[in-house]
Amino acid sequence: MNQILDYLKPLQDEMVERLAQWVNQESPTYHKPAVDAMGQMTMQSFLDTGAELTTTHHQTDYGDHYTLAYGQGTGQILTLNHFDTVWPLGEASRRPFTIEDGHGKGPGVHDMKAGTLINLYALRAIHDLQLKPRHKLVYLLTSDEEVSSPTSRSIIEAEGRRSNYCFVHEGAINRGITIARKGVGRFQLAVTGVAAHAGIEPEKGVSAIEELARQTQYLHGLTDLNKGVSVNVGVISGGERPNVIAPHATAEIDLRITHPVDEAGYVEKIGDIRPALKGSQLSITGGMSRPPWPETMTDMDLFEKAKAISAQLGFPTERRLSGGGSDGSFVAAMGVPTLDGLGSIGGGAHALTEHTVLDMLPIRAALTAELIMAL
Ligand SMILES: [Zn+2]
Repeated sequence: MNQILDYLKPLQDEMVERLAQWVNQESPTYHKPAVDAMGQMTMQSFLDTGAELTTTHHQTDYGDHYTLAYGQGTGQILTLNHFDTVWPLGEASRRPFTIEDGHGKGPGVHDMKAGTLINLYALRAIHDLQLKPRHKLVYLLTSDEEVSSPTSRSIIEAEGRRSNYCFVHEGAINRGITIARKGVGRFQLAVTGVAAHAGIEPEKGVSAIEELARQTQYLHGLTDLNKGVSVNVGVISGGERPNVIAPHATAEIDLRITHPVDEAGYVEKIGDIRPALKGSQLSITGGMSRPPWPETMTDMDLFEKAKAISAQLGFPTERRLSGGGSDGSFVAAMGVPTLDGLGSIGGGAHALTEHTVLDMLPIRAALTAELIMAL
């Protein structure tokens, strides 16, 4: 079965060279010209590898998304590839791609430029070896995953509905394959109090900060680790001066849900919070940005297939649950058999330690190609 791996192994240097180009192209989600340049570069690589451009999804505020397709077949395998990163403009010129001890380093290398590259070279092997997958391969290249996919979500879900399988090449967690993810909710709380002189007439004030402190205790109290539910007030701000009773305060809240059955109840609990102090007002906005993808929705036969192939390629792997969301959650939650974390072996996503293990690149590409051919 190692025809594919034998083909890909000698291409490792070429893969690393292309990865360096991709990492050195800035691609912050919020900078349209830069992220568009990354999108075009990625799209062109897939075109050069035999895929056809089906649709360009033009955007005004975010980078354009692309749908590409390869081959024919009765069903289809969808892969999700985001080319934006969390890193600000200029990060790639400050910290360009480097190699240290067999690791490729640089902004976005693990999340998920190496992953998309792995997916590209899986196609490269299939195309060059003239293998004929039984399913049509559909590639979605998107620009806004790092901000929860506001403009690509509907495109992902529409394509997901037509798909028999979905593969996502986000970075692997502890060298495993991701078969479940927590759902993610994001909320913004604004508290309005009443300002007053803290020394002269404190009785006339209502402190937005005190209100926010009480709400923070309430919100953290909703955490129930047995249910896999956690609530975190991650950012707070408020007040004006030490001698003024604070007239306003705000908080950003993160909710994680493991089981779909808990989703509605917790969204309601957070949405329905009431002021603790007389005279203060609360306004809360937000909601779920990614649905829970529980393990029970994963097609375990598909996972076992991937696990067996990976072992045959000399890289034993295990199932992993992730506390983080990805675009895979949208498709998995619709009931489409989905595997995530098929991308880079490495770590340090969103951190300065971000890296990918370079000699794993051909092996991971072979895994995806073999998996496609096995379906
Ligand atoms: Zn990612």
